[in-house]
Amino acid sequence: MTLEGKLLIGQQAISGQQADIKAVNPATGETLQPTYAGGGKAEVERACELAEAAYGIYRETSLEDRAVFLETIANEIDAIGDELTERGVAETGLPEARLQGERGRTCGQLRLFANVVRAGEWLDVRIDPAMPDREPMPRVDLRQRHIGLGPVAVFGASNFPLAFSVAGGDTASALAAGCPVVVKGHSAHPGTSELVGRAIQRAVAKCNLPEGVFSLLFGSGKEIGQALVADPRIQAVGFTGSRSGGTALMATAQARPQPIPVYAEMSSINPVFLLPEALKARGKAIAEGFVGSLNMGAGQFCTNPGLVIAVQGPELDAFVEAAGEGVKGSAAQTMLTPGIHDAYQQGVGRLANHAKVTEVARGQAGDTAHPCQAGLFVTQAEAFLSEPALQEEVFGATSLVIACTDAQEVARVAAQLEGQLTITLHMDDGDLEAARQLLPTLERKAGRILANGWPTGVEVCHAMVHGGPYPATSDSRTTSVGSAAIFRFLRPVCYQALPEGLLPEALRDGNPFGVSRLVDGKRE
Ligand code: NAP
Repeated sequence: MTLEGKLLIGQQAISGQQADIKAVNPATGETLQPTYAGGGKAEVERACELAEAAYGIYRETSLEDRAVFLETIANEIDAIGDELTERGVAETGLPEARLQGERGRTCGQLRLFANVVRAGEWLDVRIDPAMPDREPMPRVDLRQRHIGLGPVAVFGASNFPLAFSVAGGDTASALAAGCPVVVKGHSAHPGTSELVGRAIQRAVAKCNLPEGVFSLLFGSGKEIGQALVADPRIQAVGFTGSRSGGTALMATAQARPQPIPVYAEMSSINPVFLLPEALKARGKAIAEGFVGSLNMGAGQFCTNPGLVIAVQGPELDAFVEAAGEGVKGSAAQTMLTPGIHDAYQQGVGRLANHAKVTEVARGQAGDTAHPCQAGLFVTQAEAFLSEPALQEEVFGATSLVIACTDAQEVARVAAQLEGQLTITLHMDDGDLEAARQLLPTLERKAGRILANGWPTGVEVCHAMVHGGPYPATSDSRTTSVGSAAIFRFLRPVCYQALPEGLLPEALRDGNPFGVSRLVDGKRE
């Protein structure tokens, strides 16, 4: 397909009038064609108007029609073929195999949500039948279901050009909830975004849905991104990116006459605790696994292990030495964008120049335009506890080891951690008691707690939580990965004493949708 460099608004492809967006191949520095003229307020207005018009019809689509729509998007993305992964490689510097895996995950997510929609549990139907004879007061008939919030703005993430971009987890869960979506495409991969956006456009047409169910805008985040979140028709926001971008959008959403929820995933350093028995028994093997996880995707995963915490001593020294060797042997990988590369260099520089931080090892220097040279640093818990800046995310393959004097200091470090997406424990049977002591603190800090694994590689399933307290996300009550992500874009409505003919189908007598319902407190 020839890329046109246009915004996709409903079924139209429109040329923007604002500053150009040009993708750059981060491996070569070459500018990629075509140029995407950025959209402005007029395009935001049109996309939101269409989304609002579509909402009334789309939110009441049958479970089957909505599920088929999600499956049609997946089929259309699959049908793009190699062009999608080739363009993705050129725009991100990620390897072909990664892009292929990500396409599988993207389409898998859409199909998972299709099944979730069909099952209808998300409707959370509750019926408390009338009790006219109840004493001292009768009870009226009360019925509850969930509806989609309304049009949702989604910001594509730079680090998952497929799985967390135009048709990624935020879009899939919002569409599953019955919400039209307006995507602000990430400026680093507009071509990949256009290909996927056109696949969604085709699915909308094939499924005879109103065109405003989906639009894709390109342009400056500070302009169209802000305008989108400020638009009164937008009812929720999904975002993955920097803490500054996420908090700016939260501020805009809160300052609206009608504030709206922002589900922003921002920054997490994913601490890894090495408990004493595990460290003693298999420190070297843990070091190997750690270096593999650290280098995955050039460290540009939100779940990258950026902090390692353990009690000091010969076992920790052996771990640091083995991990340092692994880091030294790590080949440089291309980073996603020049901006992310610059931010990484600055972050590593902050650690390297810090008086209380020691450099253990640096990886191989690369010869691509924007290489990520891996890094490992070490400091004492005392320094970490007194300097909050040492908790700042360095987005890339760099990690900081915190050496603690004893288990009490490990507990103090745990208590001082900011909110995280994940916390990992490496532990053996002999560490059970130490882990039990830490767990109540860790639960307050992270959305996912793992034992003897690595946080990178997030399973898309029903039990996953990819979320956590601020700054990992802006709202710790939810997840952005897995089927529970649908609940971010739903709200309950209770219907009191409505005549049967006015009730939504899911709530009518006889259970026409055939979904699980809580009737008078009992699951049916
Ligand atoms: P970003 O700069 O936050 O940009 C993400 C999206 O938000 C882009 O579409 C951007 O628009 C928009 N945006 C940024 N600031 C905005 C603002 N003030 N108002 C409205 N929209 C705004 O993130 P990035 O480009 O992906 O990467 C930059 C840094 O973010 C990385 O170095 C890393 O530190 C962090 N990051 C973290 C994660 C994570 O999962 N933890 C993932 C990715 C990135 P433009 O098109 O104008 O840029």
